[in-house]
Amino acid sequence: MIIDCHVHLNHYGDESVRTLDRTLEQFQLAMRRNRIDQALVLTSYMATQARPSTREMVHALRDIPYLKVVAGLDYLNFGPNDLGELADYVRDGKVKGLKLYPGYQPFYPSDPKWRPAYEFAAEHRIPVMIHTGDTYTPKGKLKYAHPLHVDEVAVDFPEVNFVICHIGNPWIRDCMEVVYKNANVYTDISGLTLGAFEDRFEAYMRKQVQEMLLYGVEPDSVLFGTDWPIASVESYIEFMEELAIPARDKRKILAENSIELYGLDPRDSLFQTRRGT
Ligand SMILES: [Zn+2]
Repeated sequence: MIIDCHVHLNHYGDESVRTLDRTLEQFQLAMRRNRIDQALVLTSYMATQARPSTREMVHALRDIPYLKVVAGLDYLNFGPNDLGELADYVRDGKVKGLKLYPGYQPFYPSDPKWRPAYEFAAEHRIPVMIHTGDTYTPKGKLKYAHPLHVDEVAVDFPEVNFVICHIGNPWIRDCMEVVYKNANVYTDISGLTLGAFEDRFEAYMRKQVQEMLLYGVEPDSVLFGTDWPIASVESYIEFMEELAIPARDKRKILAENSIELYGLDPRDSLFQTRRGT
């Protein structure tokens, strides 16, 4: 079983055209081809025609049980009122987490503005995913996106589970330490490449992930994600296949950890044929 915990149904480039129908279809095709059972779709910190809002996304995916939503929050416009609507989606089981985008937006995870969001996550028992590392756009400010900043909120909100996205790349060692130290911190391996991995870079990154597991990061704390459409699903599957770790750990990373962390139902698989009710 494979669960991709980090996908976007956005189109980057011309943002004036509505693209959701097309990206959804393309991603479902990629799932089918690569035997991805379930995926979590992360909405952006801003909504445009090419980046659907959480409301639009929940609506578009309402009849697709194998696609759930992680709600991106907008630092500049966030108000506790946003959480009212999200509470309904969480209760309905469609929204499975929150996502913050430091670096893309100018804030540290410990910014007091997020306190209601962390309390919400604790109350509803959903994880908070935090962008870390390189930003796709040169307009991002990297100091905010350093994985070390996740340590502070992990300590201050011990009842909340956090996900350091992209293993903090290139600050992988710093990410390793924060995950190693805090039982409530996980990391996903998404977005390590643009498109397909180039051979030498793939070998380099595989070594980094192997080292991370060797260092003391438990395989229980690592999640499989791609960051599609930025990275290709095919090349990520190949990356995982060639990772030199025990099969048992691979199963955890590919699916079991996400099922546990996000409270997913393994029966909500693209390949599950459901009969009757
Ligand atoms: Zn992403």
